[in-house]
Amino acid sequence: MSSQIIYVTKSSMPPYDEYIQMIKPLWDSHRLTNNGEYHQKLEKELAHYLNVDHLCLMTNGHMALELALQAMNLKGEVITTPFTFISTTHAIVRNGLTPVFCDINRDNYTIDTDQIEQLITERTVAIVPVHVYGHVCDVDKIESLGKKYNLKVIYDAAHAFGVTYKGKGITQYGDASILSFHATKVFNTVEGGAVIYHSEEMGRVLYGLKNFGIRNELTIDSVGANAKMDELRAIMGICNLKHIEEERAKRKSVFNIYKDKLRDVEGIELMTEQKNVEHNYAYFPILINEKQYGRTRDELHEYLKEKDVFTRRYFYPLINETECYRSYFNSQSTPVAKYVADRILCIPMYSDLGEQDISRICSYIKDFQTNG
Ligand SMILES: *Cc1c(COP(=O)(O)O)cnc(C)c1O
Repeated sequence: MSSQIIYVTKSSMPPYDEYIQMIKPLWDSHRLTNNGEYHQKLEKELAHYLNVDHLCLMTNGHMALELALQAMNLKGEVITTPFTFISTTHAIVRNGLTPVFCDINRDNYTIDTDQIEQLITERTVAIVPVHVYGHVCDVDKIESLGKKYNLKVIYDAAHAFGVTYKGKGITQYGDASILSFHATKVFNTVEGGAVIYHSEEMGRVLYGLKNFGIRNELTIDSVGANAKMDELRAIMGICNLKHIEEERAKRKSVFNIYKDKLRDVEGIELMTEQKNVEHNYAYFPILINEKQYGRTRDELHEYLKEKDVFTRRYFYPLINETECYRSYFNSQSTPVAKYVADRILCIPMYSDLGEQDISRICSYIKDFQTNG
């Protein structure tokens, strides 16, 4: 067995020559950013791939969420979950909105829709659910709650690129969805992201907000940021998108090998696959039940590190336990999220992960078990 270092992820990159060929014209045009040719091309290609009408590219997924919320001009409370990447909560707070944490489902770690209603007050203006690890939230229930209480629904779909539910693209749901094209995501533009939205008006506002609120040469009509994607990264996206089906297929086979090898390890809980969902195999989280496995998540994390296998406690700590939020919130109010955050471990997952490496990782996990 090899003993090379295995990292938790490895960014997908197009063939070198393909990228170099495509960026060559930039040395003639000198047009590097500000809604350039390739920016427009990538927006069209992504809208087509995701089967959505409106998509606005952004410099990253975080700014996509921050500006999507700003575009809706909301004031008050936003219901979300603490079991997500810190960006979700930061985007809410940086808009002057108050996050209200709802607990998650035990089986797929998305927002527990049975608990949303009891958190709604007269100050509630929106719900920001997260399609965690590419798992689909209960979009039908969320849609009906949104309608009933007149709340905006903005999905953090950073993990859910290309996921479909009942044959429909997952980003078609809600008032808006945001995607991240960060280097570690299933589809990447190095750094990048997008807002998927459903009205011309929202598009007009978003395009202003990502370019300083500049409407035209003399008109600045909103307090915008700078969240534009440049041409080099747009081209990276165009190249990566050409290989996306192969990327997904390879991830699926990694996923299936893992599943076969880890299925019967006592105390290791795998993701439950969802009905009617075409998954993107973005992550491979395992939940370590210390009573059955005989070791804690942190012990396994350390043991694997000693063996040169780098895993990630994703998401841990829980957001309502981080330094910047723990004095305002109590993780006891979201016990399921707390339970999961204390036991979850994302093991290496990327399209190029070879069968030998997967076997090596799985053997370590089995060997370290003390019960059974
Ligand atoms: C990656 C991620 C983001 C932020 O995206 P960036 O492109 O890194 O800014 C937001 N939410 C979730 C759930 C993420 O995983």
